[in-house]
Amino acid sequence: MDRSRTVFETMDSVDGLPDTGDFEQVAFCHHRPSGLRAIVAIHSTVLGPALGGTRFWPYETEAEALTDVCRLARGMTYKHAAAGLDQGGGKAVIWGDPRRDRSEALIRAYGRFVHGLAGRYLTAEDVGTTQADMDLILRETPHVTGVSPSLGGSGDPSPATAWGVLWAIRAAAGARWGSTDLAGRHVTVSGVGKVGRALVDHLVDEGATVTVADIREDAVRAVIDDHPEARQRLHAVDADRAHGVECDVFAPCALGAVLDETTIPELRCEVVAGAANNQLAGPEDDQRLVERDILYVPDYVANAGGVINIAEEAAGYDRDRAWARVAGIHDTVLAILELARRERIPPGAAADRHAEARIASVGQVSLLRTGRP
Ligand code: NAD
Repeated sequence: MDRSRTVFETMDSVDGLPDTGDFEQVAFCHHRPSGLRAIVAIHSTVLGPALGGTRFWPYETEAEALTDVCRLARGMTYKHAAAGLDQGGGKAVIWGDPRRDRSEALIRAYGRFVHGLAGRYLTAEDVGTTQADMDLILRETPHVTGVSPSLGGSGDPSPATAWGVLWAIRAAAGARWGSTDLAGRHVTVSGVGKVGRALVDHLVDEGATVTVADIREDAVRAVIDDHPEARQRLHAVDADRAHGVECDVFAPCALGAVLDETTIPELRCEVVAGAANNQLAGPEDDQRLVERDILYVPDYVANAGGVINIAEEAAGYDRDRAWARVAGIHDTVLAILELARRERIPPGAAADRHAEARIASVGQVSLLRTGRP
């Protein structure tokens, strides 16, 4: 991306700034009365206001918080661009321990900080923040998404994320086996939390055989108990053995970095498509999967359902319309796989190229004057 960037620093102690060179803006806030210390990183607004969640986390140092917020914000730019959204990429962190430091004053002070960015950044829920926090932020600024449905929001994004992953798996199935029908296919879902559990519900409905894994035994038991009608098609496996299960599709829905030089040789699936963020431990793992002839659906393409759903709030949230847009992940996956085939590059690299091409081309449109504000 070729735009001049400005870095604004308004916090009183900024040690060890990492490379924020390709960011439009990094804003710091220290509000002493409430104890708020927050950073908003706006990577790009070329396609629209930067959207991204607020992570409330007890980082060791401010430099660590800054590195994390920048890494996450850049990822959002790519995710939104690939998903066809009119949103840029941004992210925020509140530096602190949510269990110890959360207060009404702190969250509302944060809302005012976001308001000061005048709509260039739209916030949302992330690790450590809750829907209740978003509802409080709404009292200070309209630049917040994911508020309660009773306040006009779209609520928990996890069901939409799972719906999007299902469409990503269907697309991969179509590309691999010539049919999007998942009946009789075997899918291993590793991590049955908010997204994984909803994904299992869809897969069972589709007639797939499903193996589930989680480090929490109660989570595995709950998902199996939920489906007495599919007892014969629903199995459990230990979490550390999930990636090695012989199946058609491996769907990582827990933590990141599950695909590396150790686990990739142990995979016994033909497709990897799941919700977890940052599934590849390193960029070279993209190519490693190609060499094993395993079709990988890039994580940020497969798991974009949540942000697609949230972005629909701007036009007045309508669930049917939002979920129809989420299903569009199917076509996005096919376009990226086709680009990968044409350019002879791995799918992860193709997703990045697809996103960058859209930012470059659609970004040009905003240079045309229309008289609209
Ligand atoms: P969650 O915390 O509700 O669920 C994660 C589950 O994974 C938990 O049940 C946990 O016990 C389990 N787990 C942890 N370590 C594991 C391991 N080593 N093996 C197997 N299971 C393990 O989280 P979630 O909201 O369901 O999100 C799942 C993943 O999808 C995360 O990586 C998240 O960043 C990503 N994601 C979520 C959304 C969303 O809408 N919630 C959107 C995009 C991406």
